[in-house]
Amino acid sequence: MVAAPLALLVALTAAMLWEGGAPVSPVRHLFLVPGVWAALTAGAQAGAFVGVMAGFLQAPLVLPAIERVGLTGGALDGLVSLVTPAILGAVAGHVRDQAFAGARRLDALLEIQRRLAADAPLASRLDAVVDVVRDCLGARAVGLVVGSPEGAPAVASAPRGAALAPGSAAAWCLASGQGMRSRDLAGDPRVALADDSSPAPVRAMALPLDAGGGSRGVLAVEWRGEVPEATARAGTEMALHLALGVENARLTLRQRRFAAELEEKVAAATQRLRDIDRAKSEFISVVSHELRTPITALEGFSELLLSRPVSPKHARRFLGHIHAESRRLGRIVTELLDLSRIEVGVAPVLRRERVDLAAHVERQVELFAGVHGGHRFHWQADSALPPLDADPDALDRILQNLLSNAVKYSPRGGEVHVRARPGPGGFVELAVEDQGVGIAAEALPRVFDKYVRIANPETASVRGLGLGLSLVRALAEAHGGRIEVSSQPGKGSCFRLLLPAREGISPDIPAI
Ligand code: ADP
Repeated sequence: MVAAPLALLVALTAAMLWEGGAPVSPVRHLFLVPGVWAALTAGAQAGAFVGVMAGFLQAPLVLPAIERVGLTGGALDGLVSLVTPAILGAVAGHVRDQAFAGARRLDALLEIQRRLAADAPLASRLDAVVDVVRDCLGARAVGLVVGSPEGAPAVASAPRGAALAPGSAAAWCLASGQGMRSRDLAGDPRVALADDSSPAPVRAMALPLDAGGGSRGVLAVEWRGEVPEATARAGTEMALHLALGVENARLTLRQRRFAAELEEKVAAATQRLRDIDRAKSEFISVVSHELRTPITALEGFSELLLSRPVSPKHARRFLGHIHAESRRLGRIVTELLDLSRIEVGVAPVLRRERVDLAAHVERQVELFAGVHGGHRFHWQADSALPPLDADPDALDRILQNLLSNAVKYSPRGGEVHVRARPGPGGFVELAVEDQGVGIAAEALPRVFDKYVRIANPETASVRGLGLGLSLVRALAEAHGGRIEVSSQPGKGSCFRLLLPAREGISPDIPAI
C-alpha cells in the first residue's frame, strides 16, 4: 500500500540531490505529497510513517546545513520541511480513517434496517442483525433481545447459541429499563457473571431499544480491550436504529394483521350481503306462495258457494274457511306492511297504555292451548309483576309470534312453558320455552334478522316468511326493551322478552 508513495519519496530525494542538495530546494515542498498519498490510500499510520520517512530522507541535507550556518531563515525553513510531512500525513490519515469509519457505520445501519425489514421469521432476521453489529463494532460478542408477538422474548447472539442469562448485563438492562456501560464486567456489582475467568477485563455495554415508545428489548455488546469512544457512540447509534427498526417491524406486523382482519370482515360482509340477497329471492317466492294459498282457498270456496246450491251446514263450513283464510291473508299483509316500515328505518308506532301483562299473556296462552291440542301449555306469572307501559296490540303480536313459533318448531308436540317475572334493572321478563327442534349455536345470532329461516329437516314443511322474529325484535326495541334467545338443538329453545316496567324509568340495558 505504501510502496508507491515510498518510491516517490526516493525519487524526490534523488531529484533534490541532483539539484545540489540545498536544504531550501523548492523540491522539498513536494515531500508532502507521498505522506498525504499514503494517508489517503492506507490511513493515518501509513501517512505518518511515510511522512516520518520523508523527514528522515531530508535530515542529512538539512541538519548539516544548520550545523554549518546556524539556525538561519533558510535552515529553519528546511527544519519545518522535515516535520511537516509526518504531521500532515498523520492528520490527513486520521481524517480519512474517521470518514471511512463513519461510512462503514452508515452502511452497517442501513444493512441493519434492510435485514430487520426482510420478509423472514423474526429469529432469522435478528440473527442476521447481530452479525452486522458484531462486525461493525469489532466486538467479542453481541446479544440482542426483542419482545416477540409469541410472548417469550426472541434472543439472538453472535457467536450463536447464547441465551438470556439471569444476572447478565442484558438482563439487568431489561429489568431496570436503563442503559449500562462497564469497564470490567466481572467486577461490576450490577452483573453476576457465571464466567469471570477471562484473563483480560471484559468491557461491555447494554442498551435498551427505545425509540420513544418504551423499551422493546436490549442490545448487549462485549469487547476485550479498550473501546474507543467512537465505537461506543456507534453502539448507541445502533441501539437507536435497532429500536426504530423493531418498532417499524411491529407496526408493519400490526398493519398486516389489521389488513387481514379487514379482509376477513369484508369477506364476511360480502357473504352476508349474498345471504341477504338469496334470502330476499327466497322470500319473494315464499311470499308469492303464502299469498297464493289463501287466495286459492278464497277463490275455491266462494266459487263453490256461487256455482251450486249448498246446504246451510256446508255453506257455514265454507264461510268458516273463507273467514280463516281472509284473516290469514290480513296477517300476512300486516306483517309485510310492518316490515316495509322497519326496512325504511321507521320504528313501529306504539299506542302505549298501562297494561297488565299477566292478563294479556294468559288470554293468548289460553287461545293457543285451545287450538293446539298436541302441545301442553303451562303459564306461570310472578305475583309481584309490575304493570307495563306498552302497546297492547304490539304485545299481542309479540306473544302470537313467539307462541306460534314454539308450536311450529316443536313438530313432535311437547310442553310450552310461558313465564313472566320482574327482571333485572327495572325490566319485566317474559320467557317462552319449548321442547322443539332447537336452533344450532351458529344460527342463533341470525334468527332475528329479516327473511332468515333456519333449515331443519324436521320442520322443512313448516310455512313462514322469516319475518316474525325480526318484527318481535323491532317491537321490543320500540318499547325500549330487547329479545334474547338460548337454544339447545334437538332439545328446545327459550326466547326471553325484556320490557321496561313503566315509562319514565330508563333501565340500564347490559350489552348482549
Ligand atoms: P318464520 O317462523 O316465519 O320462518 P321467524 O322470524 O318467526 O320466521 O323465525 C325465523 C326462524 O327462526 C324460523 O324459520 C326458525 O327456523 C327459527 N325459529 C324461530 N322460533 C323457533 C323456535 N321456537 N324453535 C326453533 N326454531 C325457531
